Amino acid sequence: MLETRINKMKTKETTDKELMIVVKAKYLIPNPDNCIENGAVAVKGTRIHHVGTFDEIKVPDEIDKIIDLGNAVILPGLINIHTHLDLTNLHNRIKPTTNFTHWVFQLVGSRIRWKEAEYNTSIEKGIKLSIESGTTTVADIANTEYSFSVLKKSPLRKVVYKEIIALNPDHAKDVLKKTQSELSAITTDDLFRIGLSPHAPYSVSKELYQAIAQFARETDTPVCTHIAETRDEIEFLTKGTGSFPTLLRQLRAIADNWQPPGLIPIQYLNETGIFSNRPILIHCNYVTDEEISLIKFSGASVAFCPRSHHFFGHTNHPFQKLLDNGINVGLGTDSLASNDTLSILDEMKFLSLHHAILPNTLLTMATVNGAKALGLESKTGQIKEGLQADLCGVGLSDTHTGNIYSQLFDAASKNIFTMVAGNICYHA
Ligand SMILES: [Zn+2]
Repeated sequence: MLETRINKMKTKETTDKELMIVVKAKYLIPNPDNCIENGAVAVKGTRIHHVGTFDEIKVPDEIDKIIDLGNAVILPGLINIHTHLDLTNLHNRIKPTTNFTHWVFQLVGSRIRWKEAEYNTSIEKGIKLSIESGTTTVADIANTEYSFSVLKKSPLRKVVYKEIIALNPDHAKDVLKKTQSELSAITTDDLFRIGLSPHAPYSVSKELYQAIAQFARETDTPVCTHIAETRDEIEFLTKGTGSFPTLLRQLRAIADNWQPPGLIPIQYLNETGIFSNRPILIHCNYVTDEEISLIKFSGASVAFCPRSHHFFGHTNHPFQKLLDNGINVGLGTDSLASNDTLSILDEMKFLSLHHAILPNTLLTMATVNGAKALGLESKTGQIKEGLQADLCGVGLSDTHTGNIYSQLFDAASKNIFTMVAGNICYHA
């Protein structure tokens, strides 16, 4: 019988702070370039104190508690750089479709009657599923204020991005002003940062992108945006035709005199000035070589959501080309409205199964690159002395005898342990 424990950070923090906890397992991968057999991590308070083999770090007098994960591999906590946890309860509630605008229309309709309670339970479930699957950091999109209040209480490390939508340029100033006022009421902490997410070029005016970019630069606020997600988006931006104008008219979200900029997505975004914020570019499913050069030059990161990409029937995401160009690519699950789990381990398994990709590249995207995309590389993304103790432990199959990575990405492997800043959030 598995016992599941999701501890609240506040209650554990004070008691764990002075303790030295050692987490050991058959394998430890402290970073994508290194694997230690019979590895262990000594955690003191919120930080990683020592990393090595169990024999190296075993100093009995100093250790308060040893957690032996057995036939498992300890990894840096997994980082999900794109999700919408408030959509968790829409799993299997939206009819499968590869028509993106039809999916958006269903999505808007499905939660039209949601109130605070429905949002809260959906976000709470998303937090629980994330923690249980080994995720220690999430970059979540907040469509309502409830995402901020619920996530703030969770033990996860998180950047919560306020989603901003307004295609009418006349509304740009007022929308930004309202956003500033809402965000000023939220207090952050060591585990909780606020960001801004101008939704996408088909739902945000150029004027609003520009205003957000300027405000975010002045306040050192992280930014992300959905971009180059569908061919419809390209048609909308270059010609002003296709399914987006129809959807936006149905939603009464487009002005009669709206004119297309006549640019492809990344070119258009470049014109808004938002690249100087080094944003996370969510999706980038359809980008030209010229656009890849613009992304590279800007220093922006890309959030790749492999199974959501598959759900919508997109093919050939250029993630390998982006990586080869030196662009920082991290992994996201997107929401359960277009995916089956919120597990970054499952995203790695999916990529491992369908692409010829090096296992340490997969792990780099899920950890180091995720941390870099969120500006958290001095805190998390690796198991290294001095960094925050964000770890997970993946239980391995007893019958699988391949190398460590083939065991890790085997269908039978499963996260059994999650620690965020020294706080044991989950132990199965
Ligand atoms: Zn999204």
